[in-house]
Amino acid sequence: MIYIFCAPSGSGKSTMVNHLLTMHPDLFELSVSCTTRPPRGQEENGKEYYFISVEEFQERIARDEFIEYEQVYEGLYYGTLREEIARIERAGKQVLFDVDVKGGVNLKRILGDKAVSIFICPPSIEELRRRLEGRGDTSPEMIEKRLAKAEYELTFKPQFDRVVVNDTLAHAFKQLDAIISENER
Ligand code: ADP
Ligand code: 5GP
Repeated sequence: MIYIFCAPSGSGKSTMVNHLLTMHPDLFELSVSCTTRPPRGQEENGKEYYFISVEEFQERIARDEFIEYEQVYEGLYYGTLREEIARIERAGKQVLFDVDVKGGVNLKRILGDKAVSIFICPPSIEELRRRLEGRGDTSPEMIEKRLAKAEYELTFKPQFDRVVVNDTLAHAFKQLDAIISENER
């Protein structure tokens, strides 16, 4: 089974994905996307993302290397490489995707029953702001942009197979673990 994680930025998608990777390192692997945004904080090329130029991104689109890609923020491209899915499946593991809401809906449409799409929901927009500010790696201007976008992204929720409300971490992990055990049976 392939798991697709989507959420407004700051809702806890990375936290949920990292929980699964830590709990089941032999079962899951994260698909590393390409992006044209610069690395943040401690991010490393090939780990969180493949950080590439806009020119290289366009060349890869032309070579049809992406199963999906989006301009998630103005001027910033993000894309899922077909080769990532192949690489992880060759390693005998299950793919986890961390993509934006449109990418998630597209991937689910392409992958069908091979995938479960999971929407991670913040308890409220106010709490989302606190978490983005607390993460301390995003500029105030980007925080405003991401919050404005969050309201729009929340309208995609009904298109997902499952919804996890990330209120407390313990509760969110419990909901997530239930979804995984349902599908791994
Ligand atoms: P995303 O990947 O969706 O952008 P993150 O996983 O980076 O979001 O979470 C955003 C911030 O909120 C991080 O600093 C994270 O530690 C914090 N966070 C995540 N889940 C919770 C929670 N349930 N309660 C409080 N803080 C949380
Ligand atoms: P960030 O810049 O915070 O790492 O990510 C911004 C957004 O881009 C997040 O919602 C993330 O899930 C999304 N994203 C990351 N990789 C991809 C991808 O390959 N495709 C799409 N459509 N979105 C992606």
